[in-house]
Amino acid sequence: GLTTKHIQLWLQKTNEKIQENKTYLTELDQAIGDGDHGINMARGFEEAIKKTAESDYESPSDLLKDWAMTLISKVGGASGPLFGTAILKMSMSVKGKAEINYAELTTAFEEALAGILQRGHAAENQKTLVDVWSPIVRFLQENTAFDSAAFTNQAKEAMEQTKDMQAEKGRAAYLKERSIGHIDPGSASSFYLLQSLSEVIE
Ligand code: ADP
Ligand code: MG
Ligand code: MG
Repeated sequence: GLTTKHIQLWLQKTNEKIQENKTYLTELDQAIGDGDHGINMARGFEEAIKKTAESDYESPSDLLKDWAMTLISKVGGASGPLFGTAILKMSMSVKGKAEINYAELTTAFEEALAGILQRGHAAENQKTLVDVWSPIVRFLQENTAFDSAAFTNQAKEAMEQTKDMQAEKGRAAYLKERSIGHIDPGSASSFYLLQSLSEVIE
């Protein structure tokens, strides 16, 4: 199962990918938004790394909570509260556990998605990060053990499918049909988060 160490590594790996792809994420947002997604995510994750370096965490839940609260408080854009809520819901879902098994991870992702939906009111096919989180929750539900390669593939495919969608939520919605033909920035950063998790678990 996933211990506090795994969660720390998950945060670190995600941060590395976000920092490495900061320009790419910002370019995606320049195409259909206001061009700050890479900057928002890079700042939020850098702050989360700093914040969580200050403590020795006793449980995955405590670490996830500081990670989440940092994203919520340090990221101005739509993405901070959305990712922050997702991680916060996970924190609450795994409260009291020293290790997170497959079924508990699935539940934590269900709760995270519920939080994203509650916060952003987006449905699937509206070209938001919901289009990555929803299929990944279904993928976890349909399986009984973690398959890293299949998990990453599912997340990647879902991200790529946002390219052909027309945005109906967030800033990209203002572009109407001109939003088609670009990957959704929040779906791309969601992919990095999920890819990092699969690297930690394998
Ligand atoms: P902002 O749009 O405030 O500049 P970001 O650029 O950091 O914030 O994040 C944009 C991303 O947030 C989008 O690519 C999309 O995935 C996600 N997003 C925006 N609005 C919503 C929403 N209502 N529900 C889910 N995700 C959303
Ligand atoms: Mg933006
Ligand atoms: Mg913005």
